[in-house]
Amino acid sequence: MSVNYEQLAIDGLDLIGATTAHAQLDQIAQQAAAAGWSYSHFLGRLLEPELAARRQRVIDICLQFSGLPWMKRIRDFDFSFQPSIDRTLIEELATGRYMSEGRNVIFQGPPGVGKTHLAIALGLACSEAGHRLLFLTALDLVRRMKLAFAQNRMPHYMKMLTTPKLLIVDEVGYLGLDTQQASLLFQVICVRYEKQLSTIITSNKAFSEWGQVFAGDPIMASAALDRLLHRATVINIKGDSYRMREKRQAGLFPGAVALDPPTKGIPNPKTKPPRK
Ligand code: ADP
Ligand code: MG
Repeated sequence: MSVNYEQLAIDGLDLIGATTAHAQLDQIAQQAAAAGWSYSHFLGRLLEPELAARRQRVIDICLQFSGLPWMKRIRDFDFSFQPSIDRTLIEELATGRYMSEGRNVIFQGPPGVGKTHLAIALGLACSEAGHRLLFLTALDLVRRMKLAFAQNRMPHYMKMLTTPKLLIVDEVGYLGLDTQQASLLFQVICVRYEKQLSTIITSNKAFSEWGQVFAGDPIMASAALDRLLHRATVINIKGDSYRMREKRQAGLFPGAVALDPPTKGIPNPKTKPPRK
């Protein structure tokens, strides 16, 4: 019995899930015949869109589960407004090399100076490289922790926090933790440190104030900092709030800064909008 190799090619592509290659097979085969491509050239041309589609699917999945609240990129950041930030350093971080070394990144500074913006931009770069990441505010982390505790699902929750290539914890220090919450955050930091997995933290608190963050326990705070800072890039942003600049330009802001309003930007279409 003779084998129908044309049909086998189609069935085989379906069998291995190469749907993009299947969809383009006829067109690329015709181009190959017309241009007299070598067999390997034809194969390369067939695989090219298939591999691109697969890469995109991985990126989409990373983004979908990232928890990134907004899409903010480094190219959207006005470095001239914030001269205390070393642009070259941020661009180096965007290459993702820090993750292969398990280095942490800590953004420190007052409200509105771009800490969350830059953390999101590094998160996007991470997902575009096809790595899993998880973005949470410290408040979310604690809320979800309480829920996991109540539902007896702490091992699952700990795994969720300690397996992604990158964990971003935003707004550490806006909220003081109780002893149980502080010790769980401490465990997350320890496990990620042992596994050499990178964590990005944004905080309005100086390291000297981290005792308050860790339930008033300076020993736990210094043990956490010891691990976080062992391999870390610390970016201390000293400058004015960008939000206030926008308000001042619009003539809406007459006096001193009182509150830190929620971050605005282009919502991440892959995630649900944050609950109000
Ligand atoms: P922080 O986390 O330090 O409080 P955010 O990153 O939330 O500040 O920044 C507040 C808003 O201002 C965001 O919409 C952010 O995109 C924008 N922003 C802050 N700094 C800059 C900057 N230098 N260039 C462009 N946008 C900025
Ligand atoms: Mg912020």
